[in-house]
Amino acid sequence: MAKAYFDKVDNETDELFMREALKQARKAYKQGDTPIGCVIVYEGKIIARGYNRRNKDKTALAHAEILAIKKATKVIGDWRLEGCTMYVTLEPCQMCAGAIVQARVPRVVIGCMNKKAGSCGSVINLLDMKEFNHRASITKGVLEERCSKLMSDFFADLRVGAINKEQGGSHGTA
Ligand SMILES: [Zn+2]
Repeated sequence: MAKAYFDKVDNETDELFMREALKQARKAYKQGDTPIGCVIVYEGKIIARGYNRRNKDKTALAHAEILAIKKATKVIGDWRLEGCTMYVTLEPCQMCAGAIVQARVPRVVIGCMNKKAGSCGSVINLLDMKEFNHRASITKGVLEERCSKLMSDFFADLRVGAINKEQGGSHGTA
């Protein structure tokens, strides 16, 4: 059943859902957290949303992808997110890439890459290790400019003090 939706995936669909991930990222921005947003789609519908809350929640575990995976597993009623596609504005870090593999997410769509900490092709590609029992397919560069502009705007705001540095994020987060 999920396969049918996979077949329908095209650029337009990817951009539509990436725009939803961007909306989530803007929520993080408003709260002074590095603007990273994520949605998880199943059978053509968004079943979970998440945005980075690391500073807000004061825990390194509160990345957008982890929060979205938690919600999606509740909706699906299984720890396996087979047939789901994750849309995320920034390339996932090693923790989130690990969670994606653990949750058996088959496809990840990425906005912009994170050269310093990305673990889906930049520093390492944990989604495509033949040694692991699960691999996820990756689509990169969907609404890339918008996703990276949101990040650079945020760090520019941080530098000029428009965002409280106590609350603000740092480079290398995903
Ligand atoms: Zn992460």
